Amino acid sequence: MGRATRGCGCAVAVLVLVIAAAGFVTWKFVLPWWRTQPPPASGGELTVRVLDVGPINGDSILITGPTGKTVLIDAGDTTKGKAVVDALKRNNIQQLDYFIATHPHPDHIGGSAEVFKAVKVLNVIDNGQGPNVPSVSSVKSVAKKPVSLSKFYDDYKAAVSSSGAQHDTARPGTKYDLGGGALLTVLAPSEPFFTKDQMRTGGNEPNANSIVLRLDYGSFSMLLAGDAEEQTEHRLMTKELDLQTRVLKVGHHGSKYASSGDFLQRVKPEIAIVSCGAWNRYGHPAQSVLDRLRAANVKLYRTDLHGEITITSRGGANDIKVQAAKEPTEDAWEGRIAQKDDSTRSGFIAYGDFGPPPRPKKTPKTTE
Ligand SMILES: [Zn+2]
Repeated sequence: MGRATRGCGCAVAVLVLVIAAAGFVTWKFVLPWWRTQPPPASGGELTVRVLDVGPINGDSILITGPTGKTVLIDAGDTTKGKAVVDALKRNNIQQLDYFIATHPHPDHIGGSAEVFKAVKVLNVIDNGQGPNVPSVSSVKSVAKKPVSLSKFYDDYKAAVSSSGAQHDTARPGTKYDLGGGALLTVLAPSEPFFTKDQMRTGGNEPNANSIVLRLDYGSFSMLLAGDAEEQTEHRLMTKELDLQTRVLKVGHHGSKYASSGDFLQRVKPEIAIVSCGAWNRYGHPAQSVLDRLRAANVKLYRTDLHGEITITSRGGANDIKVQAAKEPTEDAWEGRIAQKDDSTRSGFIAYGDFGPPPRPKKTPKTTE
């Protein structure tokens, strides 16, 4: 009897040890893994609209989550605020849960003041960096007055502060819950921020420090690259990040300095969306990028040729639908010819794309 009691005590001790060990393993390994797993998709519809803010260059992307939460990433150029507001009205959006400014360049935040006037914005997320331009240009405008190079940024800051929105600085790893199982994760910029002297000739650090995001919903995933170029792509690749996504918003309007071959190999997109304007002078999208995307076997959409591009998913396996506003009248795999280097500091900020680019000079007819 005594021996039996001792045996029983041992069994209880072993059981307690096993339970304790299992608890430790769960707490130490299973729980952290479980926390990194996206929640299951609710089955509601997630919509991503890559708005047509052409024919000048720009980005503006509207996300409606499965439970109706809304995110606007960028707001097009200074003259495109109305086009963005019209898109919000068309989609019955009176309130934005998040406005995300990927970086302080006019073709991304130029239209934001008008958006803030038209709808209530609850949260603003930016990279906390200024545009790094002198407040006035040395180039005189046609009216012989100095041109303010930072007006678009001053207007953005004023609109944010008078809106009463909560302001948040983007930190890698932060996840924004869009409801119903949809998550938006910040991947970049990471510190230390890229500085001017780290840039290649003509490159600029606001692009390099763009906010890069990942959107997940069930089996749907999308990488939103802002105007990030190769340097940022390579920094992302050195981090232990899951970059593989089904849809890619191509970086920097299809610039030849972005979408490097090794980055595309990591992302492995099935669908690529280029947001660019037909009047851009920078040769966006570049033929070399289109060639790399074609080699990666993606389905390609371009806002300059397809207009607004709408992507929907309910999160189920292979559930991605893409709808374009119009049929392209040109070959989408044909790049644009550059009239000046993209990202050039002075050209980018001071002149913008305010009219149709001059037609290429015709070669004079030869008489035979
Ligand atoms: Zn841009």
